[in-house]
Amino acid sequence: MHKLLAQQLVKATDEAGWVDLDKLCGLVVAAYEDIDRDRRRTDRSMSLMIEELDAVQRNLEHTVVVRTKELRAREAELQAQNLRFDAAISHMSQGLVMFDGDARLVICNQRFIAMYRLEAENIKPGDSLRHVIDRRIANGTFSGDPEHFIGNISVTIKAGQQITQFVELDDGRTIAVVRRPMPGGGWVATHEDVTERRLAEIKIAHMARHDALTDLPNRLLLRERLNEALAQVERGQRLAVLYLDLDQFKNVNDSLGHPTGDELLRAVAQRLRGCVKDTDTISRVGGDEFFIIQTGINNATDAEHLARRIVEALRAPYELHGHLVMIDASIGIALAPTDGSDANELLKNADMALYGAKADGRGVYRFFEAHMDARMKERRALELALRRAFDNNEFELYYQPMLNLGKGDIRCCEALLRWHHPERGMVSPVEFIPIAEEIGLIVALGERVIRWACQEAAQWPSDICVAVNLSPTQLASKNLLPTVLGALAASRLPPQRLELEITEAVLMQNSEVTLHTLHQLRSLGIRISMDDFGTGYSSLSYLRSFPFDKIKIDRCFIKGLGDNSESDAIVQAVAGLADSLGMTTTAEGVETREQLDLVRSLGCTDVQGFFYSPPVPASELAKVFAEQPGAKVAAA
Ligand code: C2E
Ligand code: CA
Ligand code: CA
Repeated sequence: MHKLLAQQLVKATDEAGWVDLDKLCGLVVAAYEDIDRDRRRTDRSMSLMIEELDAVQRNLEHTVVVRTKELRAREAELQAQNLRFDAAISHMSQGLVMFDGDARLVICNQRFIAMYRLEAENIKPGDSLRHVIDRRIANGTFSGDPEHFIGNISVTIKAGQQITQFVELDDGRTIAVVRRPMPGGGWVATHEDVTERRLAEIKIAHMARHDALTDLPNRLLLRERLNEALAQVERGQRLAVLYLDLDQFKNVNDSLGHPTGDELLRAVAQRLRGCVKDTDTISRVGGDEFFIIQTGINNATDAEHLARRIVEALRAPYELHGHLVMIDASIGIALAPTDGSDANELLKNADMALYGAKADGRGVYRFFEAHMDARMKERRALELALRRAFDNNEFELYYQPMLNLGKGDIRCCEALLRWHHPERGMVSPVEFIPIAEEIGLIVALGERVIRWACQEAAQWPSDICVAVNLSPTQLASKNLLPTVLGALAASRLPPQRLELEITEAVLMQNSEVTLHTLHQLRSLGIRISMDDFGTGYSSLSYLRSFPFDKIKIDRCFIKGLGDNSESDAIVQAVAGLADSLGMTTTAEGVETREQLDLVRSLGCTDVQGFFYSPPVPASELAKVFAEQPGAKVAAA
């Protein structure tokens, strides 16, 4: 019997053993109802579960859809990124190349291919480094030992170093290569064509050490080269330092303009290059100043030969922008080790020697001598003394007569400045006039001379003129005209009795201003003489550039007369030309009767010189005037 029925039967049976059927039926019905309830409950939870599963399923499906969408988007993004990356690599201005740990090509861009003139179809991922190099060897964009090259790369990559190399290609290009190691033993390298930049750098470095005008080494490079050369001196070699300065360069610059001055400097540099050995250094250190380091010399004579060669080479006329220019150079020479063994000392001593050369005249070279140091000091002292002399007025004018050879009378007296130095006695104007010019005293001193000379001449017989020397600086000064007018007015000297002597150097500055001033002076009736003719640029064309009244032929020609037919010919030619231009000719420095007769026969109209009279103080002039000048200079 069923266990449940047995239990219900027990429950429905009373103590007497009677079965209550109704009770049993009720129990059975209740039992069925229970079972039914359970089944319904189970059904319900089953359907709940199914619903839940459904929801989960739907959720999953949704997630998959979303994820797929996301993945698609990511993929597209990656693709775009890849495209951008590709574009970036191929548009890089640098060549880019990547190798893996086995030195096999991973990637390289178009620029890399083009830079080394490779062909894209021959360069593929997986190619070995050696293969790429072989291609470059074949087209001439790689020179050197490939094994060595590869070995070097592998060493630096293994060491984890980033390196930058500048590679010079045979075609003149410079490529900067930067190699960076990557994890796994590979590397990425950028190759950049830096040719332009390198050239610019080289140019800048060159400019820092060279003079822009002549392209010669500048002072900086001069020092470097001198120090290098001096190291050789320590090993027993000798060298010379030549310090060169162009005489009167300023005049060229002032008169013909800076472009012509620059042209002259370039021409001088070119001629200097032709005078020295490749191992020597020429340097331009200032306006018209050059240094030359002459290396490997045996003795002073070698330096002397070079100096002479340079003086000769620079002396030949220059044709510049249609002008014929002549210029001299002065050179000071210091030798190592004799005159010094360090750069400063040598340069200083060469400077001193140059100063000595300048003092000796134009186109001269001088070796350094110990006493030059003393002379330099003396010069400084003289400058000081000259300023003091100006304040204390230690000056006096002497006068030297000029005689007319026709009538034998004194036509004019030249005012010549004298300085009575309290200790040194009389100092020659040849010595102090250049200093006065250099220290800027000449204008004020010259004004004083003009005033004195006019005042003095006003006391002389009315047919005798006074001649005053003008330095180029005075002519360039705006004060000249007012000073002259003031001096004439104050002294009441007629302008016709004043003569102004100028040298060719003044005409070299034939700037509009100078010529205008000269014309103004001349239109007042003042006479203008060309002084020291033949010592400067000796260009007859200067005679035509201004209507001079008188030409004074320098005494160096008079000295050379007779035994030197060249001087004779020059004096005659100048006298002839002057005559045809309506000018008179004065022979300067006539010391003897023979010279007097010669200059007369060559056509000079006047003479000046010791033969007749030296310059004398104003107080002695009356005596000179009173003598019978004609008798002494009358034709023999
Ligand atoms: P310079 O204008 O050529 O003057 C003539 C010079 O020759 C004078 O020298 C005179 O003493 C000298 N002399 C005259 N006759 C003879 C002779 O027969 N033989 C020789 N060997 N020499 C003779 P000084 O007085 O020493 O003047 C020298 C130069 O100084 C002058 O040369 C002139 O250029 C300059 N100078 C003189 N005074 C002045 C001045 O007031 N202003 C300027 N700017 N320069 C002056
Ligand atoms: Ca003179
Ligand atoms: Ca003269």
